[in-house]
Amino acid sequence: MKKKILMIATGGTIASKETSEGLAPAISPNELLACVPEVAEACDVETVRPFNLDSTNVYAPHWLEIASIVERNYAAYDGFVVTHGTDTMAYTAAALSYLIQNSAKPVVLTGSQRSVYSRDTDARRNLSDAFLYCADSSAYGVRIVFDGSVILGTRAKKTRTRSFNAFSSIDFPAVAVMRDGRPLRYVSGSRPSGEPKFWHKLDRNVFVLKMIPGLRADIFDYLCRSCDGLVIESFGAGGLPDYEDGAFFKGLARFLALGKTAVLTTQAEHEGSSMDKYAVGRKLRSCGRVIEAGCMTLEAAVTKLMWVLALARGEEAEKLFYTPVEYDIF
Ligand code: ASP
Repeated sequence: MKKKILMIATGGTIASKETSEGLAPAISPNELLACVPEVAEACDVETVRPFNLDSTNVYAPHWLEIASIVERNYAAYDGFVVTHGTDTMAYTAAALSYLIQNSAKPVVLTGSQRSVYSRDTDARRNLSDAFLYCADSSAYGVRIVFDGSVILGTRAKKTRTRSFNAFSSIDFPAVAVMRDGRPLRYVSGSRPSGEPKFWHKLDRNVFVLKMIPGLRADIFDYLCRSCDGLVIESFGAGGLPDYEDGAFFKGLARFLALGKTAVLTTQAEHEGSSMDKYAVGRKLRSCGRVIEAGCMTLEAAVTKLMWVLALARGEEAEKLFYTPVEYDIF
C-alpha cells in the first residue's frame, strides 16, 4: 500500500526563482513535485502552502501553524514533508520537536542550497530523499533530511552557507543516511507508542545574549524590562566576566529575582557547557536558579525555553527544561 503524505510547502531557496530583487520564493508545491517524478511511485502526495517565505521571516507563529496543520491532518496522512528555507530550518525543526511529541508518524523537513531549477541543484535529491524517507515504514518523529543525512530535529544546526552538506548533527550521530532512496539506519530508536501530544503555545519573549569580550552589563536593564527568558551564550565551558565590579552577576541576580528564567550555554559548537568547572562559571550559582543547557544546540535551547515558559515558571520550568525530549539533552 502506498503511503499518503502531506507536503507542507513554506518557501525557501528550494521554491525560489531569480527576481529583479534577488532570489525569492515563487515555485508552487506542484511544480516542485513535478521535478521528482520518482516520488509518485512510493507515495501519494497532497499539498498545502500555508505561507511562502524566505525562512529569515519564519518564527514562532509559523512554527505553531505548521504544528497545527500536522495536528489537524494527523489521522488522514501517514507522514508529513515540510519544505523550508535552510537558514532557520534548525530552529523550526527544534520547535516542532517540542510542539509535536511522541509522534509515531514522521514529520520530515527539507530544503536546498540551490533553487530547484538551477543547473547543479541539490533540491531534487533532498526532496526525493525526504519523501522516500517519510514513506519508509521505519520513519517517525521530527527529522531533517538533507544531503543524504537524516538528523534529529533537536540536534541539527546549519553549519555551511553554500555547500550541499549544510547541516550537521551536533554531538549526536545522524540517525540514518539515505542510500539509493532507502534509509540505512545508524541509530535505531524505538517508535513511540500511544497518541501523539501536540502543544499550542510558545513564549516569544526569549532573548539570546551572546557574550563578547568587554560587553557592558547595562544590557540587563533592557533584559529585565523586556524578556521572560534569557539564553546566555557564554565563552567556552561557561561563565560571566566579573569586571565592572561584578555588574554581570548583579544584573543576572536582578533578572532572576523578577521570577524570570536564565539558561547558560556556550558559543563553542561542540561538547556543551559546564558551569561548575571555573570560578567565573560557578559564581553564577550565587545569582539564583540558572539552568544549564549542557550539550543542547542553541536552536534547541531557545525553542525549548519558549515552549517551557508558555507552560511553567520557576522550579517547574527548570524541571521541564531538564526533561529530555528526543535526545535534546543528556
Ligand atoms: N534564505 C533562504 C531561506 O532560508 C536560504 C535557503 O533556503 O537555503 O529561506
